[in-house]
Amino acid sequence: MDDRIERNNRIARLKMRRNAVILAHVYQRGEVQDIADFVGDSLDLTIRALDTKSDVIVFCGVRFMAETAALLNPNKIVLLPDTNAGCELADMATVEAIRVAKKKHPNTAVVSYINSTAAVKAESDICCTSANAVSVVNALPESSILFVPDKNLGSYVAEQSDKEIILWNGHCYVHEDITVSKLASLKEQHPLAQIIVHPECPAPVRHMADFTGGTGQMSRYVAHSSQPEFIVGTEDHFTYKLTKDNPDKRFYPVETHCQGMSKITLEKVEFALERMEHIVEVPERIVDKASRALNRMLALSMK
Ligand code: 13P
Ligand code: SF4
Repeated sequence: MDDRIERNNRIARLKMRRNAVILAHVYQRGEVQDIADFVGDSLDLTIRALDTKSDVIVFCGVRFMAETAALLNPNKIVLLPDTNAGCELADMATVEAIRVAKKKHPNTAVVSYINSTAAVKAESDICCTSANAVSVVNALPESSILFVPDKNLGSYVAEQSDKEIILWNGHCYVHEDITVSKLASLKEQHPLAQIIVHPECPAPVRHMADFTGGTGQMSRYVAHSSQPEFIVGTEDHFTYKLTKDNPDKRFYPVETHCQGMSKITLEKVEFALERMEHIVEVPERIVDKASRALNRMLALSMK
């Protein structure tokens, strides 16, 4: 424990020296969430990254999140404490495959989930997050949408839109691991608990939930609910944040882990600030196009 306090103090001193801010996603380990200046969902983190006056952003999350911060802040240094912190879903769409799909579906808008590479964002008309996917799609003038890369979030959007949604064949293994039978068994143990799930879960799982939303929406739902117990259908570490913010409520996770998110540790955060590693850079040729797709989303979300 003393070691932990000493490390946290060293991180705080390094942060001052570098004029850095630490941003952490809600799927980060509890001890990493504890040292962050801000913990949030991918939309709120994107907005925070845009707002910061710091020279350095230490991004405790996966690569696409750090890349997004780098795209929106060309004059700041963005550090990803582990260069291997990746998102398998983001890697399920490639530029080449999207170009083929665009030819096959002309007059279709490409909406890329923020869980995608910067190169894929550059091929897109607009980005979205789990929090704003439905409103982004419904705000577009096109009636046909190619939604990449998550088929589950895409089908969730399709359920709430009159548009034709062409689904990409991508998925998140963390959320595909959440099954109807796992939720049913938790419900048997906690019959009074409400089920809340992420829209990256498959449709049958979403359909048995009391509430479906991104992590920020789930946080707000829990905070405003009079219910005392929740079965949480998303990555496990989210229950750390929920418990911290709602100490009077109880949360039962499905036990599903994101390996990419777990790669970030306190040791690596200290190392990142000490050595100024690993700097996230986006190739110059895609910066403008990818930023345009992100800024178009932000203009809609921040209205
Ligand atoms: P949120 O936007 O809800 O934070 O989700 C990000 C994510 O990676 C879900 O798997
Ligand atoms: Fe990617 Fe899934 Fe991890 Fe989210 S939980 S970062 S979608 S692999």
